[in-house]
Amino acid sequence: MSDIERAQAVVVGGGLTGLAAAVAVARAGLKTIHLAPQGPPDRRTSALMMPAVRYLQDAELIGEPSGIGHPLQQVRIIDATGRLIRAPETLFDSAEAGLPAFGWNFSNVKLNEAFATAAAALPDLETRPLTLTGLVRNDAGTLLTLSDGTEVQADLVVGADGKKSLVREEGDFRARENGFTQAALVCDLELGRPIGNCSIEFHYPQGPFTLVPAGGNRANLVWIDQRSVLDAARAAGPDALVETFREKSMRLFGSIALATPAHIFPLSTITVTEAGKNGIVLVGEAAHAFPPIGAQGLNLGLRDVADLAAGLAETDLTAPGWTQKLSLDYARRRAPDLARTTGIVDALFRSLLAEMIPAQALRAGGLWALKSLPVLRKQAFGMGMGNR
Ligand SMILES: Cc1cc2nc3c(=O)[nH]c(=O)nc-3n(C[C@H](O)[C@H](O)[C@H](O)COP(=O)(O)OP(=O)(O)OC[C@H]3O[C@@H](n4cnc5c(N)ncnc54)[C@H](O)[C@@H]3O)c2cc1C
Repeated sequence: MSDIERAQAVVVGGGLTGLAAAVAVARAGLKTIHLAPQGPPDRRTSALMMPAVRYLQDAELIGEPSGIGHPLQQVRIIDATGRLIRAPETLFDSAEAGLPAFGWNFSNVKLNEAFATAAAALPDLETRPLTLTGLVRNDAGTLLTLSDGTEVQADLVVGADGKKSLVREEGDFRARENGFTQAALVCDLELGRPIGNCSIEFHYPQGPFTLVPAGGNRANLVWIDQRSVLDAARAAGPDALVETFREKSMRLFGSIALATPAHIFPLSTITVTEAGKNGIVLVGEAAHAFPPIGAQGLNLGLRDVADLAAGLAETDLTAPGWTQKLSLDYARRRAPDLARTTGIVDALFRSLLAEMIPAQALRAGGLWALKSLPVLRKQAFGMGMGNR
């Protein structure tokens, strides 16, 4: 046992939830090792709703959101399906909900920089650019093997290692995975006309084409379609790609220029039956993944971290067996939110793609109801914001 290092906590994964979790765990007073292998920059952007933004500010992971993000005050939905039963154009305005904004849109690179600055200031947090290669449960907790051959005996393990989580697999968590033939193409665009602080969603039968405000005339595009369609559109070259964007956005914005190269992300869903046990907890996409519809993924991941921080604050970290108690408590706290959010996104995704006439009628009727019934609109605002 002499060559084996000891750590009170190890956080695995250097994405946004891993960074936020490492900060939360070290702030709780645990000597923490954060395994954060270097990777290419995360070119996605994240629309974070006000509860998530407030959490980031309270946890001092970011300062004023205006320093690194752009406000989201309106959401406009345009039914571009050309179906028999179509939904009316619908506008949601944060002023209706009595809010200055629904949330803020951030580039993941900027969030990563802000979180890393917060992490660097914590004396109990040590970051290593290593991957986890093995995990075994033993009587003393969990024995981890790192990519440099080091072995670490940890009390608490936080799996923030994304969709293909080794912590989930070797920690023996039951998970259900479902791959889609659709993918998401993302890039930044310079538009001839600004979109203000309004996120605009064109709903096509194959998936939404969404422009999210990124300041001035810039917008972040998230286009969901069949993977083969996205690959072909990108392979056709920048000029043809821009012409496709002009067509998909109904030529509403004048000229369009590519501001960044297009990246394509495969889409899948992952659900776990429990998000914590045996001194191991899963956060972010290690615990849940779904298509980027309604901007829920990172919002949910940050609620994982907020619940982990709350659980740590209520736990006696010196009592025998505290990690077992904490991980079970975490699983119990997270279960309703994970089930509810996954259910909403799944229903939304299926309703967007459904070719069945009854499903189209339901979706169109739902949007009509949302457009005209204030009580329903209020509930929809709350759900989209991730209010609990
Ligand atoms: C196109 C698109 C748009 C999106 N837009 C939004 C949005 O607007 N709003 C929103 O809330 N969400 C959005 N999401 C979802 C959001 O991006 C994700 O939920 C979030 O980034 C997941 O973060 P994560 O840290 O859990 O996982 P990841 O970002 O995947 O990070 C996992 C990390 O673990 C590391 N890792 C993996 N294996 C190991 C190992 N063995 N050892 C050590 N490290 C390991 C990886 O290197 C990686 O750094 C979007 C997703 C997509 C695809």
